[in-house]
Amino acid sequence: MASLNINLPPSITIPNSFSLSSLSHFHGRQLSLSSTLSSSLPILPHSKTIFIHGTNNFKTTQFSRNCSLIPPTSIPSQSPFVQHDDNLFIVVNFYHFVFIKDPQFEVSRHLFVLQELDIHGRIYINEQGVNAQFSGPSRDALAYVKWLRDDQRFTDILVQISPSSIGHAFPRLKLRYKPSLVQFDLGVQDLPLLDPLMRAVPLSPAEWRTRLKSINNNHDTANANDKNCILLDVRNGYEWDIGHFEGVQRPEVDCFKSTSFGLSDEVTDLDPLVNIDKEKTHILMYCTGGIRCDVYSTILRQKGFKNLYTLKGGVSNYLQKEGPDKWIGNLFVFDSRLSLPPSTFKPGAATTSRSQEALANNKFAKCYICGSQVHELRHRNCANLDCNLLYLCCRDCVGELRGCCCRDCKTAPRLRPVLFQHERYKKWHLYRDSEVREEISTLN
Ligand SMILES: [Zn+2]
Ligand SMILES: [Zn+2]
Repeated sequence: MASLNINLPPSITIPNSFSLSSLSHFHGRQLSLSSTLSSSLPILPHSKTIFIHGTNNFKTTQFSRNCSLIPPTSIPSQSPFVQHDDNLFIVVNFYHFVFIKDPQFEVSRHLFVLQELDIHGRIYINEQGVNAQFSGPSRDALAYVKWLRDDQRFTDILVQISPSSIGHAFPRLKLRYKPSLVQFDLGVQDLPLLDPLMRAVPLSPAEWRTRLKSINNNHDTANANDKNCILLDVRNGYEWDIGHFEGVQRPEVDCFKSTSFGLSDEVTDLDPLVNIDKEKTHILMYCTGGIRCDVYSTILRQKGFKNLYTLKGGVSNYLQKEGPDKWIGNLFVFDSRLSLPPSTFKPGAATTSRSQEALANNKFAKCYICGSQVHELRHRNCANLDCNLLYLCCRDCVGELRGCCCRDCKTAPRLRPVLFQHERYKKWHLYRDSEVREEISTLN
């Protein structure tokens, strides 16, 4: 068992419910699912009526499923999170671009398997492939992965796994056909995503680290970019704020779908790809898990950019393989855990002294409202439903502005309650209805 000496960046908050002790369950043993799994699963009839999410169709479909859920003898080889307790929760991420002839049928096939498993999350399928993020007890989450990998179209997918000490990291399961696997304003349906030659060249985490080192050596400045090589963070500004690779410019982007680097000729300081030599400049891009880079690099390729490289599997894969070297801070994730320290991905890995130095140099996360760098910083959505801005905030400012991002929002008509705990807002009607109930009880 590796010891867990973890130096936390001073201005980063670990979610309240995050417990380091939970990591002790993750160690270097080969995971194998309980041999009782197949016998504990009810044997379903081979013909079943299934509701297909996102459509109004009920389909009766013939499947043979039972043979696919035989407990795997070896499970996602890429992950070090191998555990002996099938009941511990994990979060699994994968995506894969592959032609799917009948996506609605594919959705129903997945649903057939998933309805017997305790899995929450977002699983989107269309003609271009699958994009999935979900949580569940490892027994169930990995049984689904195993089932998918038995399909030759998905045998080689890179599956990323991290522990979840909060149980499910998603409120429910959303499995459906989605026209775009990734939200992007310009649309991605017509992009040639299935052609790997259109996407950026994937660099392994080790290759990426080597490239970063050579960039740092050549420039020896805080800003790694020059005319020959651009390091591009293809995420949102608020993700960069709590963690990023050394020397990378903050992307002035609030939402990936509106990213427009390199797409306009308008000269602006905010676009690192403006006025660069599209033939010669090397662009090294990264995101959390890789899919945003695959999509965005295809767009850039169509715009004439020639030398595109990406970090294979994104930051989560890097932290797992290489640890936090060259990385500063935590990793923002799009589930209830919100942000994860690098040690989540590689237990025992400590923040490097260089990262500590960068943190001390005031280049790091601050409360968006008061600018302080206290320990209790946390991402939250503005309590004003009609704003909903995701912002980083200290506990004092949360109290002062009652969970809102600014004074204007504080007096908005549709205010939700303040969330002091590590949680996310529920649907508006739940708050609205509870308000109505309160009014009624007051009248009585
Ligand atoms: Zn503050
Ligand atoms: Zn607001």
